[in-house]
Amino acid sequence: MNVNNARQNDDRSLSDEAFRKVVRSWIAENYPLAVRNPPHRLPFAEVKPWYMALSRRGWLAPGWPVEYGGAGLPITKQLILAEEQEAFGAARVNDMGVVMLGPVLLRFGTQEQRDFFLPKVLSGEHTWCQGYSEPGSGSDLASLRTEAVRDGDEWVINGQKIWTTRGADANWMFGLFRTSREGKKQEGISFILVPMNSKGLTVRPIPDISGGKELCETFFDNVRVPVSNMVGELNKGWTVANALLGFERIFIGLPKQSSYALNQLEMQMRRKSLFDDPVYLEQYTRLRCDLEDHIALYESFIDRFERAGSVGPEVSILKIHQSELFQRITDMLLAVSGEEAALLEPVRDNQDIFPAGQFLIARPATIYGGSSEIQRNIVAARVLGMPRA
Ligand SMILES: Cc1cc2nc3c(=O)[nH]c(=O)nc-3n(C[C@H](O)[C@H](O)[C@H](O)COP(=O)(O)OP(=O)(O)OC[C@H]3O[C@@H](n4cnc5c(N)ncnc54)[C@H](O)[C@@H]3O)c2cc1C
Repeated sequence: MNVNNARQNDDRSLSDEAFRKVVRSWIAENYPLAVRNPPHRLPFAEVKPWYMALSRRGWLAPGWPVEYGGAGLPITKQLILAEEQEAFGAARVNDMGVVMLGPVLLRFGTQEQRDFFLPKVLSGEHTWCQGYSEPGSGSDLASLRTEAVRDGDEWVINGQKIWTTRGADANWMFGLFRTSREGKKQEGISFILVPMNSKGLTVRPIPDISGGKELCETFFDNVRVPVSNMVGELNKGWTVANALLGFERIFIGLPKQSSYALNQLEMQMRRKSLFDDPVYLEQYTRLRCDLEDHIALYESFIDRFERAGSVGPEVSILKIHQSELFQRITDMLLAVSGEEAALLEPVRDNQDIFPAGQFLIARPATIYGGSSEIQRNIVAARVLGMPRA
């Protein structure tokens, strides 16, 4: 048994509490402090030392099976790893290859695709972006038009994607492309892997309100990729993409963003002696109670996920509650910060408090991963059984 397999056996046999302690002290010992609490998501070159440290420890892909280089950890321990990184202020690594592509290949890929792509995610050779959204096809994703037409052994792709996070930093994209115009619009879509250095592919960054440049437009002008880059069956890309939604929404529903922001709010209120003011105290207490409610709600979903292996459409409630709570906490953080609210960097005497950074990061949380309005439509129609609008 190699060292990593032995460590992963140990990780699996620990109680959740003991595992949390191991993770916490390992992060404190191994995290490169120069990139702690970054104001934006960092480019891969800057976050790579941390990415590789996680990979060497076997914790980059904690949910993948051990035979593919993962840690084979249950979801509770995967989430402990995510929570402890967030609590420490660790930079978010480029995780789309791990969190999205990996599970897709494990479930729908060929053995050849798994053997080729998965090790390259772990070694940092391939970093991935997601090419789903298009101008006019965000909430109504199934209407997407970027087309892949078969020509011999290749797909020829033409069209445009938008809001491609890390599009300029990644070297591969997994995307949804129209491969048929017959029948229902969901039934003519395929899931295809595209190298970002393909001839005819152009990436244009879109600056965002926080000063970040990770969002991009991606243009396809007769981009050619081998037919073997399709994952799953022809015209079944919608099924491939949807299979992971439940897990993604549990991940997006993690209390970590809100608890991290509430911790900053608490530090800021102490600095400014605002806990002596009953009005601020009441506002803070409400948010604290809402966070405790969210943690309880979240634990009930984890419990269901562990017992049933999936969760139903009601997981949308988790996404709505987490993203909106995160925004309310950061609204208050900004409001109590006075002139420090205008700084586009952490406050001078405490690098752990960054009011504008938190406020800006929270703004798109109600849009990505499916907007709050769309999540409410799902709850109305599929949980409450109300008529569709
Ligand atoms: C920070 C960020 C990162 C992203 N990263 C990626 C990525 O990596 N890859 C990718 O493919 N996409 C990405 N997206 C795109 C994201 O998935 C879409 O923005 C989202 O699905 C909404 O689509 P849209 O922007 O086209 O808005 P629209 O669908 O045009 O919606 C506009 C508004 O109308 C509302 N609306 C739309 N339809 C309805 C309806 N039927 N009922 C009620 N209200 C409705 C929406 O809620 C929203 O408020 C990202 C977005 C953001 C903000």
